[in-house]
Amino acid sequence: MAKGNLFVISAPSGAGKTSLVKRLRAEMAGLAVSVSHTTRAQRPGEADGQDYFFVAKEVFERMIGEAAFLEHAKVFDNYYGTAQSSVEAALARGEDVILEIDWQGARQVRHLLPGCISVFILPPSLEALSQRLQNRGQDSEDVIARRMNDAIAEMSHYAEYDYLVVNDDFETALGELKSIVTAVRLREERQSEALAGLLQGLLA
Ligand code: GDP
Ligand code: ADP
Ligand code: 5GP
Repeated sequence: MAKGNLFVISAPSGAGKTSLVKRLRAEMAGLAVSVSHTTRAQRPGEADGQDYFFVAKEVFERMIGEAAFLEHAKVFDNYYGTAQSSVEAALARGEDVILEIDWQGARQVRHLLPGCISVFILPPSLEALSQRLQNRGQDSEDVIARRMNDAIAEMSHYAEYDYLVVNDDFETALGELKSIVTAVRLREERQSEALAGLLQGLLA
């Protein structure tokens, strides 16, 4: 059976990763987004099991002990992690899976699954990034300051990624992400299986 592609997407907080992935999923079939576990507090409007699985630190640490995570990392003083089971089952079914994770997690996933495709999303400027975090209106001043502070450290890992997308105009960035997914889906190793019948006929 065809195996799905694994896409890893990172960005500094507020660059627009969640909004872009949401639209990408609405407009392209066959894309699943992995729901991470986190110990951070739930934001207004976020649903448990949909945006994240919100768990207590003790639960997260127990899951680490049980080797339940494909990857996990501490980001802004909270734990974030991708559960192994959901990702592997979806890939085995031939679905493409997107992970929205930080650079530390991306590094672990690249090591475990070298065939993954990684994308880094950049804001058009630090001013725009700060403005977006303010506009989102979901984090306190302290949290925003912390995230701006960590943004530069996150962005310093851009060169570890296969693709760089600037989220200045939203629709342009969305179109670029769609192009990446389409190009990966057109790769020979995937196409030759899907087009086996056609190729056999053409080459007979
Ligand atoms: P937002 O990106 O500003 O909406 O903030 P979040 O609280 O959703 O995410 C905080 C950080 O944790 C980001 O850098 C994410 O990329 C990272 N993150 C989220 N989920 C995961 C995960 O499952 N694994 C890892 N390693 N990082 C994650
Ligand atoms: P992330 O998941 O990377 O933290 P979000 O998707 O939550 O980022 O986006 C942060 C804020 O910026 C949201 O309020 C979102 O509506 C806004 N935003 C996203 N992309 C753009 C864009 N291209 N131009 C202006 N605002 C944007
Ligand atoms: P937020 O708290 O704003 O939802 O997310 C902050 C950051 O946590 C994001 O930049 C996101 O990439 C990262 N993040 C979310 N889930 C995971 C995860 O499962 N693993 C890792 N490593 N990072 C994550």
